[in-house]
Amino acid sequence: MSGSLTPQQRRVPGKHPVLKGEESPLARKRRARRINRTLAKAFPDAHAELDFSSPLELLVATVLSAQTTDVRVNQVTPALFRAYPTAADYAAASQAEVEEIIRPTGFFRAKAANLIGLGQKLVSDFGGEVPVALEDLVSLPGVGRKTAHVVRGNAFGRPGLTVDTHFQRLMHRLKLIDASLGSNAVKIEHAVAELIEPSEWTMFSHRIIFEGRRVCHAKSPACGVCPIAYDCPSFGLEGPTDPAEAAKRVKGEMEQV
Ligand code: SF4
Repeated sequence: MSGSLTPQQRRVPGKHPVLKGEESPLARKRRARRINRTLAKAFPDAHAELDFSSPLELLVATVLSAQTTDVRVNQVTPALFRAYPTAADYAAASQAEVEEIIRPTGFFRAKAANLIGLGQKLVSDFGGEVPVALEDLVSLPGVGRKTAHVVRGNAFGRPGLTVDTHFQRLMHRLKLIDASLGSNAVKIEHAVAELIEPSEWTMFSHRIIFEGRRVCHAKSPACGVCPIAYDCPSFGLEGPTDPAEAAKRVKGEMEQV
């Protein structure tokens, strides 16, 4: 049973009971929710790291965030938002001028075309406003399910699980989902939706992404200082367990839990 080991015993790499297949669906749900509560203490200010002040700004910033960092996006969006304050402004924009502003985010030709197309579709189909419905959001150029959930969760306060690369990596390392789901974002989203209460979906996404960016890196995660180590079957299997060694790998702020 997953509760039969002390926290110290669980911190022996490779000994977590989940690795022996000893976890019922109910125990997995409880572990997922405990992880969420622990991360809430470790990252009390977890939030969307893109700067925005309206649904349109968040939508645009999220489209730009593909294949780059939020920091890079936040560097270009002040000028972009000043130049194009409404959907109609994007609809009428010059491709070359948009490209020039967003160039540092990479893939700038495709992204500029998406922003102009997005403005045109918002004007033609949605009265110039960003829609709330998932199916409407994903009908916009450059907007996939992940972007739609970011906008719904953070600009409209609707529960949304944001399955990005950090989220996928963490769900697999924590073994909260079956390995067979691989990188299928929609299946991962549905599997995690069964574990976490809907009211927590948006914040759970932020916390997991914070943990992924700061502690549980793709290469050499900081297991030795990880706040959710006790609940992680992958503890010590990919990163150092020595606290001093692990602490060197942490990026940014984290509260002790
Ligand atoms: S840092 Fe290590 S212990 Fe923490 S979630 Fe990642 S793999 Fe698990």
